[in-house]
Amino acid sequence: MLRIGTDYEDVFSADKSDGETVAPHFQRCFAKDRQIRKQPQVRFARRGFVALLWLAALCMPEALFGLNATAALPLLTTCRSVHHLTVAEANIHRPVRLHAVVSYYEAAIDATGPSLFVVDKSGSVFVSLGTIPAKPLVPGDLVEVTGVSSGADYAPVVAHGATRVIGKGRLPSTAPRVNVTDMLSGAKDGQWVEIEAVVDAVHRDGAADVLALFMQGGMILARTPVEPGVDYKQLIDAKILLRGNAAPLFNHQQQITGGIINFPGISSLSVEQPADPNPFSLPLSSIAGLLRYTPDSEIRHRVHLRGRVTLFWPGRMLCFRDETESLCAQVDQTTTIGPGDWTDVIGFPNAGEFKPTLIDATFKKMERSQPVFPVRVNNQQALSGEHEAELVSMEGKVIGEDAGASDPTVILSAQGNVFSIVAASAAGTKPQHPEFGSFVRATGICSMETDGAADSTRAGFPIAKSFRILLRSPADVVVLQTPSWWNAVHTLRVLALALALAIFALCRMALLSHRVHRQTETIRTQLLEAAELKNAAERATVAAEFHAAHDELTGTRNRRKIFAEFQREFDAATASGSTLGVIMVDLDHFKRVNDTYGHLTGDEILRETVRRITFAVRSSDLVGRYGGEEFMIVLPRCDKFQLQACAERIRLAIASEPMMVGSVSISMTTSVGTAVTMRPPHAMLDALAAADSALYQAKNGGRNRVVLKDLATGAFEEAYSGVAGV
Ligand code: GH3
Ligand code: MG
Ligand code: MG
Repeated sequence: MLRIGTDYEDVFSADKSDGETVAPHFQRCFAKDRQIRKQPQVRFARRGFVALLWLAALCMPEALFGLNATAALPLLTTCRSVHHLTVAEANIHRPVRLHAVVSYYEAAIDATGPSLFVVDKSGSVFVSLGTIPAKPLVPGDLVEVTGVSSGADYAPVVAHGATRVIGKGRLPSTAPRVNVTDMLSGAKDGQWVEIEAVVDAVHRDGAADVLALFMQGGMILARTPVEPGVDYKQLIDAKILLRGNAAPLFNHQQQITGGIINFPGISSLSVEQPADPNPFSLPLSSIAGLLRYTPDSEIRHRVHLRGRVTLFWPGRMLCFRDETESLCAQVDQTTTIGPGDWTDVIGFPNAGEFKPTLIDATFKKMERSQPVFPVRVNNQQALSGEHEAELVSMEGKVIGEDAGASDPTVILSAQGNVFSIVAASAAGTKPQHPEFGSFVRATGICSMETDGAADSTRAGFPIAKSFRILLRSPADVVVLQTPSWWNAVHTLRVLALALALAIFALCRMALLSHRVHRQTETIRTQLLEAAELKNAAERATVAAEFHAAHDELTGTRNRRKIFAEFQREFDAATASGSTLGVIMVDLDHFKRVNDTYGHLTGDEILRETVRRITFAVRSSDLVGRYGGEEFMIVLPRCDKFQLQACAERIRLAIASEPMMVGSVSISMTTSVGTAVTMRPPHAMLDALAAADSALYQAKNGGRNRVVLKDLATGAFEEAYSGVAGV
């Protein structure tokens, strides 16, 4: 059964497949016709056959047709004798010569070449022209057709046809009335027939007008070359009688898929019942009443409906509801109309799988509006099919996108089922779909999808496979809940980022730690170096100070130092009221040592002398080298008796034991002069001069003795001498 524009979903599907914006059903049917005629297999078969004939005819006619053999075959001279061959017989390529009248000629139906039907008293046959007439044939031409039979088409035809106009003829005055069943059985292939039908739609296809016709029981197409001044659109909804050559629409396996009548022109059409010039004045029908049983069923005519718009996809589809039901109609119009607007709609009712649809519809917007509220449905209710074509709203979770669909399509899941929401594709724009994982409420027209399965409990009742919600506008999708940001991808990204940050922080810390360590080391080194330098400087200072204050040879205080300390102790003694002793020591005959043993030995004697003096004095006494072999000792808080005792200890320390220099033993003596300061104080140098004077006194007295000079009296007192012993 030829199935034409069964419902608006087909329109939708058709759009999807061929990419056209809208394909009203007749466009699709015509496309089907063209498509079948252009089926590669069909074209290939025809062309191949014609090409083969040409090749054979040109190169070795006798080999293919076998001139001798062909000559031996009986000539076919009537249309019926060709058309009634079996395919096998036809493929023997029996010679044909007909005298027939052109009933249909279309110069270039498609790339395969002209389409020619001829008719004689016996019947009709299709001629595949091998030679295209220089002057286009016109219906009524009496022609001589030569060619060969061929079974390469749906039914036997004349192939490799050539025509010669030999006069004018008349098309048959009668034709058998056929119905849809006849048309689709294929039995009337190519035959000159008559049908009664209502014109549903008219479409221009190149140089031909194509009519979609409702017959009782189904639809067929009719095709005729364009005639100037003839507008078949005026016949829409008119009941007509039409004569022409029946032809099948068949697929690549030469199976019938539909029927078409090729009619020569307006002359072979008569109007039985004209169309209402104002279809919008037709009595109103209710949607629920469409396609219901009527006892005296007639060919379907146009109906007039009225309702409020629930969806309008310009140039494609208009959905509306009246008091009884909802319906979607195929429309070409792009007139602005919106949801809630009242509208008058005319069109041809057609059976849909769940509910009737309207095809080739036209609408008129009315001047009033009243919103239509959606019905809230769940998955089960939607799948029941009862809400087909109805404005519904449903909630679901966005789980994907159908990228292959020509209309933006988003996949949702709800209650364990998957359905889709579809927006009408606007040219070049692709609306943003809600984020995956969002929970949305979609409002739109419920459109059922089936896979052809029927409900076994209700014979023929289709089983819904799924459904779509056709959106009126992007605002029909309301996001109720956005997906948690913490999805797997984001979590992984955050973890990766955290890991990267942690690694970065660790690296940074390691780097900083390394830097700190390095700088600490540097600072420590610098501090150590600074301390070292400071120590060295201090040591150098101390050394310098020591060198500045001490005698290089003996290590004891030098003259400046002992003088400075003498001054300090003198001041202290003066301040404290104590007495201060001064001792001057001079080695006796030291020159002889130098002279006898050399200066180095003399140096050693000097060092040993300092050691012995230091050992002999108190720890608080201050020893210094006054010059040459003379030494000065300052004795703080020392009275005359202590002074004398100390001076004697010094004399004895030198004289009591010879000094060993290497293996040389040298006996030395010393002369000692002393003085002690007085109270109240006097000049410091007085004490020194007195001690020095006492020293001279000791020398003059014979050496190796201690002489004290009393500052008060100026008298010398010889305290000790070594004359008696050491
Ligand atoms: P007197 O008993 O009169 O003191 O006789 P003397 O030889 O000790 O005295 P004199 O002043 O004539 O000689 C002192 C000598 O001391 C002269 C000098 O060569 C020697 N002398 C001075 N300083 C040093 C020194 O640093 N090392 C050495 N080896 N000899 C020195
Ligand atoms: Mg001297
Ligand atoms: Mg001396």
